[in-house]
Amino acid sequence: MLVDYHVHALGHKDREHTLENLIQYLESARERNLTEIGFADHDRYLPDLDFSLYSKLQELFPDIKIRVGLEIDYFPDKISEIKKIRNSFDFDYCIGSVHYIGDWMFDADRYKDEFNNWDIDLLYEKYLSLVVATAQTGFFPLIGHFDLIKIFGHRPKKSLEATFYPALKAIEKTGVVLELNTNGWYKPVGELYPSPELIQLMFECNIPISLSSDAHHPDQPGRDVDKALAIAKKAGYRRIATFEKGKVNFVHV
Ligand SMILES: [Zn+2]
Ligand SMILES: [Zn+2]
Repeated sequence: MLVDYHVHALGHKDREHTLENLIQYLESARERNLTEIGFADHDRYLPDLDFSLYSKLQELFPDIKIRVGLEIDYFPDKISEIKKIRNSFDFDYCIGSVHYIGDWMFDADRYKDEFNNWDIDLLYEKYLSLVVATAQTGFFPLIGHFDLIKIFGHRPKKSLEATFYPALKAIEKTGVVLELNTNGWYKPVGELYPSPELIQLMFECNIPISLSSDAHHPDQPGRDVDKALAIAKKAGYRRIATFEKGKVNFVHV
């Protein structure tokens, strides 16, 4: 069973939130044999979203379950704003994502020189502390692109275990799901988020997973989620999470 819970109908606001646009996303989802699709646009575009479109879309595509979410930026000093955004609609789920360290949007190509000002081990530590804090808010059943900090290919000197194990143990206690986000294959790092080795470590830490493309274009829903699932199965995973009305369900794969 293939799902994609991280789809941006607005892209980076280069697209309109219209039924015509959404239909194109669903056509790709159908071509890639998705049984569920979750739209999760960036929270900064919330005023541009018309949630009433999704019930119309569901009528047109009864064979694919459509879920409605939102990808929310985590900032440690904006917890009450985040809570307000999360409660602004009856979302099936929200994705908690770390794209910022302080006011540095570290995954943006135009700001990547800032990596030169960091000790990369310390940067991973800082980034992961924010991801753990995101999971610990209790607002998000799903965490976005767990090792996004590698986006431009910067690697810690420490081992994979030394770098990620403490964060994974803390995340395990929260019960949140980490996504396998195939967009990493199309970024400078050219690698699945998280890497196959890290997925193995996640499995050993009992971390549940789901599947995501992080699509920003109608051609992309479900892109390579089959490959990501094959990697997860190799690591030992036999179930993936789905999200509906604030509940997490697990399906056998
Ligand atoms: Zn993201
Ligand atoms: Zn995204």
